[in-house]
Amino acid sequence: MALRNIIVEGDDLLRERSREVTVFDDRLSLLIDDMVETMFDADGVGLAAPQISILKRVCVVCTDGQKIYELINPEVLESSGEQEGYEGCLSVPGARGLVKRPTYLKVKSKDRKGNDVIFEVRDFEAVAFCHEMDHLDGILFIDKMERQ
Ligand code: ZN
Repeated sequence: MALRNIIVEGDDLLRERSREVTVFDDRLSLLIDDMVETMFDADGVGLAAPQISILKRVCVVCTDGQKIYELINPEVLESSGEQEGYEGCLSVPGARGLVKRPTYLKVKSKDRKGNDVIFEVRDFEAVAFCHEMDHLDGILFIDKMERQ
């Protein structure tokens, strides 16, 4: 495994729409393992592939230091509720802002083998899922924040 370089705002890659993953091979597994390692090394609670210059629809989330979610081609099936909280981003160092997010999400994803998986998350995990999935469409939290 290896640490990958996290790019920051101003890099055009962060504004691209990432492509669907179609090949579920060892390279994908290596990418995911590197993303998890890079996320923990940077003290983040999530990381999306475009943040390491890879335009694939892959992100990882871990808000409690224990449960690691691997999201590949994630799609929101259901969302409800509303919460507002401060967010930051490894690609926007030093910035924080209030963002509205749902309190509940049901997400369809693939696992690293290409199997369908469904995740239901609430509260801060739902925030992290939304934040990371936004990266796959070139959206940063600073686009959505209401005030600093
Ligand atoms: Zn981010």
